[in-house]
Amino acid sequence: MTLTLVHSRADLPPLWDGAPVTWGPWKDAPVTTWRFHASVAERACTSCGLIDGREKVNLGVVDGLWRLLAYRCECGHDVVFNHETGEAWDLDPSDYGPEGSVDPNLEGKLF
Ligand SMILES: [Zn+2]
Repeated sequence: MTLTLVHSRADLPPLWDGAPVTWGPWKDAPVTTWRFHASVAERACTSCGLIDGREKVNLGVVDGLWRLLAYRCECGHDVVFNHETGEAWDLDPSDYGPEGSVDPNLEGKLF
């Protein structure tokens, strides 16, 4: 039996600043020494406040290059690091729509 959800959202943004993203499978986040260098505020989920709750990681490929790294907290909140720019983005529900995630500074200027 196949369950089809008519209004299901994408699991991750299908586009990033207008460019299609190919996401891989979710994997367990690797254990790194980052937590020993980062402040508690940096390690806390911006949605639920859990510290070191980023359990799953997903790599996003844009234009044939690995550019995005999505971390998913236990609560389901996603943060995407843009490897190219060094920026981190907290995703909100609008990012999972057909337009994907758009930098607020670029919004309305892309198309
Ligand atoms: Zn969380």
